[in-house]
Amino acid sequence: MKFVDAHIHLSDEEYAGDVDEVLAEAKNSDVVALVSNSMNLKTCEGTLELTERHPGIVYAALGIHPWTVKDLQDDELNQVSQLISAQRGNKAFVALGEIGLDSKYMDIWDKQVKVFDLMLRLAEKLSLPAIIHSRGSTVQVVDMLPSYKLRKVLLHWFSNPISALGKAIERGYYITEGPAALYSNGIREVVKKVPLTNLLSETDGPVRFFKKPFEGKRTTPSFIPAVIAAFAEVKKISVEEVAGQILENFQNFFDIRRVL
Ligand SMILES: [Zn+2]
Repeated sequence: MKFVDAHIHLSDEEYAGDVDEVLAEAKNSDVVALVSNSMNLKTCEGTLELTERHPGIVYAALGIHPWTVKDLQDDELNQVSQLISAQRGNKAFVALGEIGLDSKYMDIWDKQVKVFDLMLRLAEKLSLPAIIHSRGSTVQVVDMLPSYKLRKVLLHWFSNPISALGKAIERGYYITEGPAALYSNGIREVVKKVPLTNLLSETDGPVRFFKKPFEGKRTTPSFIPAVIAAFAEVKKISVEEVAGQILENFQNFFDIRRVL
């Protein structure tokens, strides 16, 4: 079986100096490809560097995360936009991400919307998929998206409201879920409702998971086989079938002809 991690932050400081080890561990767990998401200029550059060092295994998602919007200067925003536009045609650059809105930071809501709009326009212009963070803002995000001509949309770590899920599925959006699928009833409910053809596996590392069996250990792609087993349990189908379909979804969503 081959596994994939559609959402991790491999250029995060927490993995600095350890990426080779993390990828070796991933390989031992049969995780054959991953999409490293970015947060700001520094992590966009770091992600691109990783794709050069690990071709065919690490793919890049570039963008500005809503959590980094607060301290974002126009200068950095312009640099990120230029960097992203300059990557047109780079086969390792597979999506805009992680971009979106987060209702925890209402004080900078307008600025978040402005940056998100700019990122979605880049996704339109480059005809690339968008990987979207929508904590506490799924309804607003789902309402906003039809005004853009987006190639594909992935709602990362979709949790609530479950009522917004129907619209997302109807429009063919993809959903990623991760380690929380092992213990959260809410997430298992989402996994149950999303068609297997629209589901992807993720870790969102370095985010840590404190419930069993993860218990605060450093999150790496080696968590993916357990996530797939949880999907299989919820969907009541074999692990092999889930792993095979998720691999196909990964290739379809990110337009990757064939992972190694
Ligand atoms: Zn993330």
